[in-house]
Amino acid sequence: MTFSWTPHRFAGGALALDVANSVVLRFDPARRIDRYADPAGLDGFADAATRFSAENVLFGPLEPVLPENRAAFLHLREATDRHFRAEVLGNSSSQWLADLLDAASSIIRRHPLKSMPTALDAAAARSALTLATSVDPERLKICPNCQWLFLDRSRNRSRTWCDMTVCGNRMKASRHYHRQKRELSA
Ligand SMILES: [Zn+2]
Repeated sequence: MTFSWTPHRFAGGALALDVANSVVLRFDPARRIDRYADPAGLDGFADAATRFSAENVLFGPLEPVLPENRAAFLHLREATDRHFRAEVLGNSSSQWLADLLDAASSIIRRHPLKSMPTALDAAAARSALTLATSVDPERLKICPNCQWLFLDRSRNRSRTWCDMTVCGNRMKASRHYHRQKRELSA
């Protein structure tokens, strides 16, 4: 089956988190999938982010990451996940924040300040810096179904799932299934 970047893949609410969420089931070594492992997946992400990212109005059309910048971009992705996941779980460390700031600033230095169109790596770095410095930490969440990071932009911070139509429904269906099983075996 060919993989495609659907709007669901941009449920993170911030470009930097959508980038971090390109690793699916990050903590399950047997089922973990890195959607950037295929260079075509990484290149296609820039175009899809232009259409679907919650921050697309900030950055405009995004250009793919140049081959020579890919390693720095992947480093940013890992630093983003580590830092914000620890923030949500309440075990953040100043070392991880420093790593994130380093990773973001080293990417920003590679690009002219206001180049248009923006390269995906530069936009993701700016998104990560904004998240780290000016976002209410209570809006940062981890989806209980898929473990993706997301920014809850709802007015009363009431979101549970990264994407109600995918993860919310999946959890509901699974609860329904287990309830039926219990009733049948009762
Ligand atoms: Zn989810």
